[in-house]
Amino acid sequence: MGTCAFCGFTGKLTQEHVLGDWLSTIGLDLRPTPHVTGPLNRIGRDLGVRPPFRQTVGICGPCNNGWMSRLEDVAKHTLTPFILGNAGHLTAEDAGPVAAWLQKTALTAMLVSSEKERDAGYGLPPSEYHRLWDLRDQKVPLPTSQCWIGRYAGQRRLAATWVTPITVAVDGLPEPDAPQGYATTIVLGQLLLHGVRFTTEALAVTAATRQQLPQLWPAATPGIWPHGTSIDDAALLAFAGARDLRSTEPFIRLGPWKPASELPASEAVGDLVELPTICGKHVVYYPMTLVHEAMRGRFYAFGRVCECPTAYLIHTEPDGAHCKAADTVEAISELYEALPGQEIMIGGEPGGLICKRL
Ligand SMILES: [Zn+2]
Ligand SMILES: [Zn+2]
Ligand SMILES: [Zn+2]
Repeated sequence: MGTCAFCGFTGKLTQEHVLGDWLSTIGLDLRPTPHVTGPLNRIGRDLGVRPPFRQTVGICGPCNNGWMSRLEDVAKHTLTPFILGNAGHLTAEDAGPVAAWLQKTALTAMLVSSEKERDAGYGLPPSEYHRLWDLRDQKVPLPTSQCWIGRYAGQRRLAATWVTPITVAVDGLPEPDAPQGYATTIVLGQLLLHGVRFTTEALAVTAATRQQLPQLWPAATPGIWPHGTSIDDAALLAFAGARDLRSTEPFIRLGPWKPASELPASEAVGDLVELPTICGKHVVYYPMTLVHEAMRGRFYAFGRVCECPTAYLIHTEPDGAHCKAADTVEAISELYEALPGQEIMIGGEPGGLICKRL
């Protein structure tokens, strides 16, 4: 027994794949990959893992086998070449169903969050589910939505989804204290889809991405894929965290809703600085010397691992230490190794830190 989040049916639910099981049949590398989970809006959820594409949530049969399955069909025939990295065209006709599929998939992925997380304020308003269900025969996303299509050039993810609450701020006025929309991001193979939906429709603005990704919805000209800047692992977390969304209107700023995206500030603990990690549960430490270095305009990159265990690539910047990426230890070492610059020891043993000057 359960209630379908979309149509409100109460009774026996069926298991809907968060990411359609057709993804297991198109030739992706399905070897189980290490995965990270954490509170939503922080490091997102890697869903296609261990083994990929088996995560399900309870949805009623008519939704699962009806409109949702029809969107999966369009997604499968339209997106498979891009997921596999083959260039191709996207017709204007497919744009609506693909944008609706992105929204449907992100909403469904949010149902994976535990009840505890949802009670803590994660998740999306129930009306988002009901309204998308109302549009089920039109195969279009909710109004005041936009969607872009790009290429993921990273190595670390086979499939992942993120939902980040966003605010619309007017220059000169304080940041709103509640979100007015949300950004959705899906990575599947080499395909990257990014969307924004303004839940406060009166505040909807026309948006673009910093990378100028081609717009998929509202349908622009029929698109060629891939086109524009690719997003790599180093850029992905910021991108999925809605930090690359731009309003095309002057004096209006779009960005992540701070309580969902910002970490509490670092705290000094003796000679060490305590930095809460984006897993939301742990802290890592780095030497106070790095703070003094930052005051002199010298910045560093280093890696740290929390107890999850999740590894982090951390950069010091003028406004403090920032987590640039969260992933497996191997993935973070690779990102770190790839940084130019010489390794140095800061702070001396014990408690010294090996890092690279940025
Ligand atoms: Zn239903
Ligand atoms: Zn942790
Ligand atoms: Zn910064």
